[in-house]
Amino acid sequence: MRSWRLKSITGSTYLGARTALVILLLLTGGCCSLDATQVKAASDFIYVNEQLAPEPASQITASAQKVKLAQDYLAVTANPYATAAATKILAEGGSAIDAAIAAQMVLGLVEPQSSGLGGGGFLLFWDAKNQQLSSYDGRETAPLGADENLFLKAGDGQPVGFVEALIGGRSVGVPGMVHMLGRAHDQHGIIEWPLLFDDAIELAENGFTVSERLSTLIKKVPALRARPQMARYLYPDGQGLLQGGLLKNKDYALSLKTLAAGGPNAFYYGAMVEAMVAVVGDDANPGQLSMRDFSQYQSVLRKPVCKIIFAYRFCGMGPPSSGATTVLSILAMLESLEIEARHNPSLVSAGVAGDAVLAHAFIEASRLAFADRNKYLADPDFVSVPVVGLLEADYLSQRASMIDLARRSKLTPPGSPSAVDADAFMTGLSLELPSTTHLTIMDASGNIVSMTNSIETAFGSRLMSGGFILNNQLTDFSFAPIDASSQKIANRVQGGKRPLSSMSPMIVFDTKNQPVLALGSPGGRSIISYVARVLYEVLVLGQSLPQSVAASHVVEAGNKVRVESAVSEDTVKTLGEMGHVLDVREQTSGIHAIYKTSLGWQGVADPRREGTASGQ
Ligand code: GLU
Repeated sequence: MRSWRLKSITGSTYLGARTALVILLLLTGGCCSLDATQVKAASDFIYVNEQLAPEPASQITASAQKVKLAQDYLAVTANPYATAAATKILAEGGSAIDAAIAAQMVLGLVEPQSSGLGGGGFLLFWDAKNQQLSSYDGRETAPLGADENLFLKAGDGQPVGFVEALIGGRSVGVPGMVHMLGRAHDQHGIIEWPLLFDDAIELAENGFTVSERLSTLIKKVPALRARPQMARYLYPDGQGLLQGGLLKNKDYALSLKTLAAGGPNAFYYGAMVEAMVAVVGDDANPGQLSMRDFSQYQSVLRKPVCKIIFAYRFCGMGPPSSGATTVLSILAMLESLEIEARHNPSLVSAGVAGDAVLAHAFIEASRLAFADRNKYLADPDFVSVPVVGLLEADYLSQRASMIDLARRSKLTPPGSPSAVDADAFMTGLSLELPSTTHLTIMDASGNIVSMTNSIETAFGSRLMSGGFILNNQLTDFSFAPIDASSQKIANRVQGGKRPLSSMSPMIVFDTKNQPVLALGSPGGRSIISYVARVLYEVLVLGQSLPQSVAASHVVEAGNKVRVESAVSEDTVKTLGEMGHVLDVREQTSGIHAIYKTSLGWQGVADPRREGTASGQ
């Protein structure tokens, strides 16, 4: 066993570290190198003319550990390297937060398209000893100098196209993940901060095997060579990285060493910031991030959003995430509908997609919940968000009564929750395309982390600094600041504001306030549908967790409903007759969950991606 020190009570690695930064040399040449002996022929490349990541399912999961039953501790993450780093820390007596940090630093290396130092996220922490749930907001902020014109064309004032907004410095927000992890570690860490970086540094220096998923995305997402550092990283020697190659990332190793030695503040002051600010500001599509934006950044400890539904207490992240508010609205409307089909035992194996009435109710509840989400939810530090009104039982049963169980409603307008001037809110739209990662970890003391992190779209803004990719999270704002009647949209761009998110890390408690299920997923706005379906199937219908995670998703997608090919022909036919337009296609969720069963805690990794579950 390697040696490690317990965190000293007074020796916080974070607060007060501003003056003690150990800044190592950044941005040395040779970002990354691919060991040519392990690379397959370059003729394997196929370039598909699609502008954005199509998020294909992974093919390499057959032998991986997708389900794990454990008694003491458990980690489920998006990549086997990260799961191994987490379980090593757990085996050494580290807390769930320690393990989450170690895993996340590895994910930033082996799954760079999804999350990393250059992004942000949300973290739930269940403190078993104090029986307390905390939620941490590490969402990116817009530069203080940005305003609602950020994504408008100079000429006609119309919103720019998504790709134009996405690629380059303009879409980059102040990354919040490191601040959030530092704060959570200060409060709940056991192992010293610097020691949590060991595995990631070792892998970055000595190399890791490029996964099928990373290699496939590099082939399928063009414009990745649009920026030189990204081109050097993903196309060393002019070739896109191939599955099975050994990849090293010396710049990332240096960044990690800087953070390990200097603490989280090394990310918000000094040379690392200078490098990020230069990359963003000097870009052909420049952004306005400044050193001050970084020094002013604060992660926020917010009150979790919880509601008792179907005799469980469901808890998640409040605004600026729309996750918990929207998931809880859907579940509460389903409870109020009292659909007869849910008492049919055959549904336990079929799930929501196995019964047209149940699927229809799920879709209609989702449409109503999304209508409210798009109108009322935004950064609570800028907008008075009516979360309490939106989740009131009377309000939701009145909303549910609008659902016709026989046909699709023509309109699902937003409602008017109590104590709110509904006219003061205007519906906004933003595109959220799937990237992101979710991990769920339980330590030997019963503490739980449920954390979703993202750089937004696959490969973020296409800009790199210090061996990691910078986010394009600002594209989660409504590009248009006003609606057709010239009223301001809640989720418009404002300096220092956080864009609305769909990330939905959740922890569910039983009537004795003990955790029973924790989960989350990547997937942009589809995250909400993924998470709500699995919660409903496992806790209400009684389906097993592995079965539910693998079952067909049913995703509200505006005028259409997305389902997967596993859905039965009967369901497709009946839903069509009810007025739904179905779009049958892969839904690349990455649900990583733990569930308390009579045999112990069960960890489940989504079969659609390359995640694994491990524990003891
Ligand atoms: N940016 C999205 C959000 O915050 C996440 C993107 C994704 O999951 O792929 O909701």
